[in-house]
Amino acid sequence: MKTAERQNKNSTNVAPYAGLAAAVAFPVAIPGVYDYAIPPRFAGKVTAGLPVFVEVRKSRIWGVVLEVKEGSEFPELKEILEIKEGHWTDSNRSLLKLYEWMARYYQCPLGRLFKPLVSKSIINKKPKTVTVYRYAGSDDGINRIDSAGAGAAGRPALDTITAPVTAAELKSRFGLTPSKIGTLCKKGVLAKEQKTVCRDTNEFGVDVAGAARVTLSVGQQACVDRVAASIGAPGGKPFLLYGITGSGKTHVYTELAKRALAAGRGVIILVPEISLTPQTILRFRAEIGDTVAVIHSRMSDGERRDSLQEIVTGRRRAVIGVRSALLAPMENVGLIVVDEEHDGSYKQSDTDPRYNARDAAVMRGLMQGAAVVLGSATPSLESYYNAQTGKYRLLTLNERFGTARLPDVRVVDMAAEHRENNWTAISRYLVTRMGEEIRDRHQIILLLNRRGFSTVLLCKSCGYSHTCPNCSVNLRFHKSDTTMKCHQCGHEEGAPRCCPKCGGIKIKYQGTAIQKAEELIREKFPEARILRMDQDTTRRKGAHLSILEEFERGGADILLGTQMVAKGLNFPNVTLVGVLQADTGLHFPDFRASERTFQLLTQVAGRAGRAELRGEVVIQTYSPGEPAVNYAMTHDYLSFYGYEIKNRRELSYPPFGKLARVIAEGPDEPVLRAFLHKCARALLSGDNSIRVLGPAPAVLSKIDNVYRYSMLLKSPSPVPLGEALANIRKNAQADLPSACRCIIDVDPVNML
Ligand code: ADP
Ligand code: ZN
Repeated sequence: MKTAERQNKNSTNVAPYAGLAAAVAFPVAIPGVYDYAIPPRFAGKVTAGLPVFVEVRKSRIWGVVLEVKEGSEFPELKEILEIKEGHWTDSNRSLLKLYEWMARYYQCPLGRLFKPLVSKSIINKKPKTVTVYRYAGSDDGINRIDSAGAGAAGRPALDTITAPVTAAELKSRFGLTPSKIGTLCKKGVLAKEQKTVCRDTNEFGVDVAGAARVTLSVGQQACVDRVAASIGAPGGKPFLLYGITGSGKTHVYTELAKRALAAGRGVIILVPEISLTPQTILRFRAEIGDTVAVIHSRMSDGERRDSLQEIVTGRRRAVIGVRSALLAPMENVGLIVVDEEHDGSYKQSDTDPRYNARDAAVMRGLMQGAAVVLGSATPSLESYYNAQTGKYRLLTLNERFGTARLPDVRVVDMAAEHRENNWTAISRYLVTRMGEEIRDRHQIILLLNRRGFSTVLLCKSCGYSHTCPNCSVNLRFHKSDTTMKCHQCGHEEGAPRCCPKCGGIKIKYQGTAIQKAEELIREKFPEARILRMDQDTTRRKGAHLSILEEFERGGADILLGTQMVAKGLNFPNVTLVGVLQADTGLHFPDFRASERTFQLLTQVAGRAGRAELRGEVVIQTYSPGEPAVNYAMTHDYLSFYGYEIKNRRELSYPPFGKLARVIAEGPDEPVLRAFLHKCARALLSGDNSIRVLGPAPAVLSKIDNVYRYSMLLKSPSPVPLGEALANIRKNAQADLPSACRCIIDVDPVNML
């Protein structure tokens, strides 16, 4: 570490410290690296990656050693107070290089990266134990039990206990009450002990029935062979597996995972937030076995601690999880899979480090000699471009597995539908098709990417539209509890009966969101069983699971959902997929709007006809000519890519050049504006190739009463961009008042 911060400002004329010192970073809002003395009692124990308890800025917290060195340029170092041995230390060390890269590339203080591993609650969490009993070997005891009637009732004798059992098992197997167990312990028949158990998030056991042997298709086998060759040979380029929906990418992943495990190496499998469903976990468990640990975002600290512990100790050799699983402290990783690599949830957009787990996966693979496989039916423009230029190796699966065929797609122009006097959100064609499929007892998935009941409240007299008092967005009407809700800050109020501005009663809830669509479908198909899946119906833990299970069991005809239903789901009985409004995201002020729409449509279309039954997809849209819609209609990724890559090149958007967003947030808009303008001027006058868009108010110009101002930097290469951003970061510390903050988002995904 180059920079160490001064601990003691008044001691400049004292000689520098000469003993062993540790450079320590902190997982909290204390940037920079501080030097500490290693006291003799910890000599030889302090290594890079070790959590240490120290005093910094008058408080005592846990930090992580980045480096041990002879002496420090600073005199009179404070001592390390406490250390935490065996806490994933070695693994932290192997991740240090990756963390350093992330901190540099994503402009984040290094210590922040340790937060998930070294927070106070994780460090102090004790392993969970249960009381168990084993047979302690006294004949006397067995006889007593027998005479107490246990043997007489045909129960086995206690010396049949081989592995320790719980009190509950003693009760069910031997009929022992707690008081009898107590007596037997006193007599030395049973011995009581504590056993550490894993707070397992894996309520889902191994579905052995699912572990049918699969024979890979020729195409699948070819993919496996190419990647497998590089599991043992580090240093190769990453693979991009472009495989259409239903082509059997999952079996390629599981086969590769088995190979890596057999070679004694660890496996990391990343899936998007939204598709880490029990269905996915079960599929992997069935194939790979229960050596798979699961990491997801709703885990408790205890569960996270235990999962990490299982990984570090090597009891579990594979991890499946959302983006943070990429940072799993695992040694000797041989394979990293990023499924649905195009998915935006791999990018952490809301807090530091604002990293993209897909890109960090490529970096980790490079650093640790692991084969990296990025897979998707709709690869991101960036990744496919990398495959074109030879930076990645391309693997292709362009047929569905077995006899399954891609579904037919029909596009319905909703403007024409309105002209012919159908003003509802469902076209006549889709209604007809739904009726047929329900009659045939097939299942239907409908996508409407809008929460709530309707999108805006409009007053027809004065034109007033009801916006959030805290944010620059419209409130959404939720009919179930007659409220208006803000989907940004959570603000809620009772739905008005008259216009809050002019008092008029001609108010209208306009636009169809998912609750209104549900009502409409119930009217049209009163006999159909409908499941709705959106943020509002899945708030309860496990709700997500039970909805999908019920649908899988055939407990419903229609699954109506937001984008949650678009990805990864595999239901053989689904023959019809309807997209109610393909345009919802198309006109977003975001250079990826078209790409996202294409991906969403292709992914949801991929839910239909995944087995023997033929599928059909109906896309309703107001923009039937849009390339994103047209190419999705013909499942033509390559043409969409060809079209979109031209736009990117013309406008110098990724993959042509690097992008970073700088957002200033705070209570005082003029301050933010002045700060960003100053940064922009400095950039434009400087000797560099960076282009600046803005500064301007962010699309979401106010969230929860915080103003947001932003600018976008475009640069042909990452190095000058990194330097420019580092400067902005420095200026922000100097210029921005403490109530404001400056956010730097490298390779941004969220452009709002
Ligand atoms: P993808 O992830 O590419 O969309 P899946 O891996 O979900 O595709 O595969 C689609 C369907 O085909 C699944 O039901 C899967 O079990 C089946 N399948 C794929 N490959 C095989 C295989 N080699 N043997 C048997 N079934 C397969
Ligand atoms: Zn709000």
